[in-house]
Amino acid sequence: LLEVRDLGKTFGALRALGGVDVTVRARSFHGLIGPNGSGKSTLLKAIAGAHFASEGAIAFDGADITTATPAERAKRGLSLKFQITAILPELSVYDNVLLAVQADQPLWTLLRSKSRAALHDEVLELLERFLLADLATDLAGELSHGQQQWLEIAMAMAVKPKLLLLDEPTGGMSPEERRVTGELLMPIKESCALVIVEHDLDFIKDICDHLTVLDQGQVLDDGTVAEIERSSRVQEVYTTRV
Ligand code: ATP
Ligand code: MG
Repeated sequence: LLEVRDLGKTFGALRALGGVDVTVRARSFHGLIGPNGSGKSTLLKAIAGAHFASEGAIAFDGADITTATPAERAKRGLSLKFQITAILPELSVYDNVLLAVQADQPLWTLLRSKSRAALHDEVLELLERFLLADLATDLAGELSHGQQQWLEIAMAMAVKPKLLLLDEPTGGMSPEERRVTGELLMPIKESCALVIVEHDLDFIKDICDHLTVLDQGQVLDDGTVAEIERSSRVQEVYTTRV
């Protein structure tokens, strides 16, 4: 589904990524791990189109998206939730999800009551899936931190993406909220692949099929969770520098 080839990104004199290859299959969960500053967020942003790569190529769903704008990538089925919040705190939980569901539909669809009913059903389904149904009329800004993260994931899923990018979605969550987040993410596999950055290795090992380990902007190792657990190179980095 996603092929990142020989990707490089420099910020002035700093080489944040160099020669990075990543392959993500449709409906698989792919974890990106590595020490602070190893380039995980930079790689996710390059995939999303938040910035352009300095070198290399990115193909998504059969198309070369290396120079595509974020909007063009979104149209092809890329969706994301980054560390910066996307919710509108002064609107209700329901309205936030409605905005996301409606985002890729022309306004005139609202003229037909059938379309309005379908939008309402879609919003309710997302609210239920992400444990927000009882909070639909609450202001988004009044949710707990964990609930806000779930709301953002629900909003990212509202566009029915083929690939979802998540940068540290469980940051600041309690262990129980993390466990629930894992449970909420698993069913998206039926329709969507995931690239997820996380510092919590237990969490990422539980939900991911495949891991890429970055270190100083390069791929240190790549493989199944079992392969990475056995990798002595990865163990060395994680015991000496994390
Ligand atoms: P963390 O685990 O702390 O989130 P990370 O693996 O996500 O780290 P990145 O944020 O990708 O790391 O940063 C990789 C390197 O690129 C770091 O040295 C960082 O300072 C640098 N960097 C990232 N974004 C920019 C930018 N916009 N301008 C300049 N340097 C940047
Ligand atoms: Mg980061």
